[in-house]
Amino acid sequence: MADGILAWQAGLWQLLAGRQQHAHAYLLHGPAGIGKRDFAERLMALLLCQRPSLEGACGACRGCQLLAAQTHPDHYILEPEEVDKAIRVDQVRDLVDFITQTAQLGGRKVVLLEPAEAMNINAANALLKSLEEPAGNTVLLLVSHQPSRLLPTLKSRCVQQACPLPERQQSLDWLSAKLPDLPERSREELLALAAGSPLAALQLHGAGALQMRAQVIEGIKQLHKQQQSPSQLAEGWNALPLPLLFDWFCQWAHLILCCQMAGDAAAAGAADMHKVVQYLAQKSSPAKVLALQEWLLAHRQKVLGKANLNRVLLLEALLVQWASLPGSR
Ligand SMILES: [Zn+2]
Repeated sequence: MADGILAWQAGLWQLLAGRQQHAHAYLLHGPAGIGKRDFAERLMALLLCQRPSLEGACGACRGCQLLAAQTHPDHYILEPEEVDKAIRVDQVRDLVDFITQTAQLGGRKVVLLEPAEAMNINAANALLKSLEEPAGNTVLLLVSHQPSRLLPTLKSRCVQQACPLPERQQSLDWLSAKLPDLPERSREELLALAAGSPLAALQLHGAGALQMRAQVIEGIKQLHKQQQSPSQLAEGWNALPLPLLFDWFCQWAHLILCCQMAGDAAAAGAADMHKVVQYLAQKSSPAKVLALQEWLLAHRQKVLGKANLNRVLLLEALLVQWASLPGSR
């Protein structure tokens, strides 16, 4: 909370923080990695503060102190118990109990629920009931990266608020404040890898994404020089996240096709793969690249759907196809 509001959220903050009356439920939605959670936490603090101002919570009153210690009796944060798992109906029932109680500090109660789309249908229906009959002075802050996956009835009970996307320069300014020691070029690469979402870019940095990418590209070069076999590489990439790998390979297959059709290096955002992309565009038949792209997209769905896959075999299958791209057949 010590940091200021994210620059691209200033307008939305003015709009919501300045209100005398609040909705029973807000749905804050937008792509992952743009700071929706930050915003929701800041709004929660404001709504629980006993001396709030347009700037935000005072940080000194009893409400603020209890919230900072995570012991405020009138706040509730509901998330999946494990990352990427569902929010279960019994978790929502506990939340509904909280909503029906009286506020202990005499002010509001505030609930933060993220991500809303993690609620399965039973969980969403359980929450819906308490949205239909709001009890007391409770404000629900639902955060969603994919509002299209929410029940329409749930959405219609909330004031829907799109969270703004930062401009590219705002994102780069924010990243340079967070990662002052990183070369500017690396910050640009991280932002490109994160599809323009600055908080996601920071997370990728924390996960070592640039190093991973350098490792993968070096591996691909060795594969083409036959210094490493597909199975050796697949073993060596054991620690790399599959979704990230599939994102990259899907992007590269797409770039090879673009390059074949447009006849130039349309490798924007993938300067590090420029040479490999050009080489494969010249040496491979478009039919083979298309077939690989289809395979990649189909398997990416399985990877994202957390299908139970043998990752070494999967990567080996990918690399065998990739290695066979150049050639007449
Ligand atoms: Zn306060």
